[in-house]
Amino acid sequence: MLAPGATIGILGGGQLARMLALAGARLGLKAHVFSPVADDPAFDVCAARTQADFDDEAALAEFAEAVDVVTYEFENVPARTAHVLEAHRPVRPNPRALALTQDRLIEKQFVQSLGIATADFAAVDNAGALARAVAQLGRNSILKTRRLGYDGKGQTQLRDGGDLAVAFRTLGGAPCILESVVPFEKEVSVVAARGLHGEFRAYDVSENLHEQHILAKTIAPAEIADETATQAIDIARRLAEAADYVGVIAVEMFVVRDGDRETLIVNEIAPRVHNSGHWTLDGALTSQFEQHMRAVAGWPLGAARRHGRRVEMRNLIGDDVDAWPELAREDGACLHLYGKKETRAGRKMGHVTRVFSD
Ligand code: AMP
Repeated sequence: MLAPGATIGILGGGQLARMLALAGARLGLKAHVFSPVADDPAFDVCAARTQADFDDEAALAEFAEAVDVVTYEFENVPARTAHVLEAHRPVRPNPRALALTQDRLIEKQFVQSLGIATADFAAVDNAGALARAVAQLGRNSILKTRRLGYDGKGQTQLRDGGDLAVAFRTLGGAPCILESVVPFEKEVSVVAARGLHGEFRAYDVSENLHEQHILAKTIAPAEIADETATQAIDIARRLAEAADYVGVIAVEMFVVRDGDRETLIVNEIAPRVHNSGHWTLDGALTSQFEQHMRAVAGWPLGAARRHGRRVEMRNLIGDDVDAWPELAREDGACLHLYGKKETRAGRKMGHVTRVFSD
């Protein structure tokens, strides 16, 4: 268990790293942020910084020597980077969790190997394989790059009569998977944490609403059957245990309705704090950011109980952030701004949380 005064190294300098650093500071844990981007938001609030590329092995080694443990705010940390760091300091969550979640094919195989449902899928390495996959899964499918996709980038929905070779080329000819479209009723996620000694705590399952493939709003708790919520949390627990995971994990799932029954299908695992857990900053006893810092520092996990009857989190995307003066004035609106210098369409600039108690 690292004592207050210890330094947590964080790879990546976006808003997630910024909120991790702030949460750590409350516990007396220092953050040393490593990012290639000079004006990244986390650099404003950390105790130490390294601005270097993720393949700069000398900078990585120096960074690792300066910290007590290494964590990350994004899943696309190159395998080589994690490997170099691991030679010096513990990397939490472990690099295997990165490898499992960086590649949609490996991720789905991992999920299914535990007997947990995913969308039907097939590997697609070239246009010929796409034709075979379509013969198997049908046209009502989404083609996704195996790696480096986010917020709907790196994916395309197949259309009736559309040219398959063109669809494959749209994604740059990269290795892909084809997934059946899941006729979901809701999208939910479980944000949970696993501690160094295997303890597990989950927040309430939350419901996520997307606009243009970007998370717009999260509501906690999700309006799903209690039994479905229990199953969702159990799925997250099994995934975390199988990956020998330490830290906060987020599991995105689809809820499919079949008469009175709700079934869960895992869409994606994020080996990090997650946008759908931002509500916990104001809506839970321990925020996901504090929880992650506790876990990677080997501390006991904090209570994940919700405040209030219902909590809503809205992202401020692009120009939405211009409403900050009104939001700052609104009674009960908890405003979080990420300090990004430039507002761009689709860019997450901040979020606002509202806790409803009656
Ligand atoms: P992803 O990048 O996999 O998280 O996908 C982004 C969004 O696309 C999801 O949040 C869903 O709204 C939608 N989506 C992705 N995969 C599927 C699927 N197999 N069936 C239905 N909708 C999907």
